[in-house]
Amino acid sequence: MPRTTPAIARVAPEVSAAYESVIGLEVHVQLKTATKIFCGCSTRFGDRPNANTCPVCLGLPGSLPVLNKRALEVALRASLALNLRLQQNSRFARKNYFYPDLPKGYQISMYELPLATHGWLEIEHDGAAKKIGITRLHLEEDAAKNLHEGFLDSDRNSYIDYNRCGMPLAEIVSEPDLRLPGEAHAYLTTLKRVLEYADVSDCNMEEGSLRCDANVSVRRRGEERFGIKTEVKNLNSFRYLQRALEYEIERHIAVIESGGSISQETRLWNVAEGRSESMRSKEFAHDYRYFPDPDLLPVHVSTSWLAEIQRDMPELPTARRRRFEQEHGLSDYDAGVLTASRTLGDYFEAVLRAGGPAKASASWIQTELLRRLNDSGLSVEASPVPPAALAGLLAQVEAGSITGASGKKVFAAMFESGKSAEEIIAAQGLSQIQDTAEIERMCREVVEKNPESVAKYRAGNQGVFKSFVGLVMKASRGRANPQIVNETLKRLLG
Ligand code: ADP
Ligand code: ZN
Ligand code: MG
Repeated sequence: MPRTTPAIARVAPEVSAAYESVIGLEVHVQLKTATKIFCGCSTRFGDRPNANTCPVCLGLPGSLPVLNKRALEVALRASLALNLRLQQNSRFARKNYFYPDLPKGYQISMYELPLATHGWLEIEHDGAAKKIGITRLHLEEDAAKNLHEGFLDSDRNSYIDYNRCGMPLAEIVSEPDLRLPGEAHAYLTTLKRVLEYADVSDCNMEEGSLRCDANVSVRRRGEERFGIKTEVKNLNSFRYLQRALEYEIERHIAVIESGGSISQETRLWNVAEGRSESMRSKEFAHDYRYFPDPDLLPVHVSTSWLAEIQRDMPELPTARRRRFEQEHGLSDYDAGVLTASRTLGDYFEAVLRAGGPAKASASWIQTELLRRLNDSGLSVEASPVPPAALAGLLAQVEAGSITGASGKKVFAAMFESGKSAEEIIAAQGLSQIQDTAEIERMCREVVEKNPESVAKYRAGNQGVFKSFVGLVMKASRGRANPQIVNETLKRLLG
């Protein structure tokens, strides 16, 4: 049982200002492959427990692992995307420990000779760009999942789902280059984005295909040596990562300020109580007795295969952002929003292919589409308005058959019903009123009903003109052609 820590003393802001925090992240991502890393079992998520198992991933005697070439290929894509140097002759080791989720009694992982080292990732935080070093990327197999809750006999028994056992993972370890919880958040966001673009992983924190452990220490500003670190586990959302780091930094400072010292240990983030708890201290750290796995050959990547992977690399977010600026004339900000996820960028480009004008498409996606997707909790792929339908709506607005204001209403209705712009415009009678006689009638009515405003306008108050336009637009339910309204009002009032 983890023992709980007493609540930490609060540290005065001027005290914590004298300290600097140092953070390094260890991130596990599940590689996008059809089968597991050392056997042919499916990697599908959500299958019946223990459906995807075989003698290899169940660790039965006499079975032998064979490296899945696809897992290696995906890890190589990740290495290229993270500017890592490939290590000649990486190799698998056995990491020994006993736990029911590990049927062989050891996990196959890379240790002394990881797949790749010396990479970096550029992050943006508080308007500044910063390069964060990546120490290493290595391949390993996942363990099974222990199920301690949710069964009638959970008070007495635990169950194990071996579907996850043998899933291909890449562990990506950062240098201790991060200085703030916000930077750690930015690093994880950027890493996730790059890995999604490079088609490495789904990076879904809820489904566990992206997992993060955070290492953190503090030191007095100006001090060169790092302080003693703790490692915080169980950070299964971006918010928890940031909160846990903030908490842990304050705890370190409080301990040091009260004359104590930090003990190097692994801690668990307790979500319910919003604090970290000691899980195991250094004295109880595992001795994994690593040694090379004799069942697996050293990993050799031929230059020609690597060149092929390099050639087929998907476009990465930074390149796409620059391209959106240059090709489509978007601002850096708009290009940043539209490339924040690969799927959103794909949506934008699909709207353009269907004839949407770049600037209008960018702005409708950022305002109307994103707002509605957020409100309804839908992903871009699940948008009830497909790219071609948005392009269709923009064409109607562009051609002047509906006003921009009606366009927004049409978009809302399209989102609700999944119908096309044409259908909704016809059904709701939203097509723009171009008829000058009809517009004049509406303008006259507004002018007649507002004699005081007319007097003000004629006395030189130009400001009231806008209110006339507003009233006519309102009377026409946003359908009157604004230009004709303007001209007509000027004539009637002038
Ligand atoms: P360990 O031997 O405990 O596994 P490593 O040196 O392998 O430690 O580093 C693990 C992670 O901890 C890396 O992400 C690294 O950047 C980070 N790290 C190392 N030292 C510190 C420190 N003093 N403070 C914060 N993070 C650190
Ligand atoms: Zn298997
Ligand atoms: Mg280490």
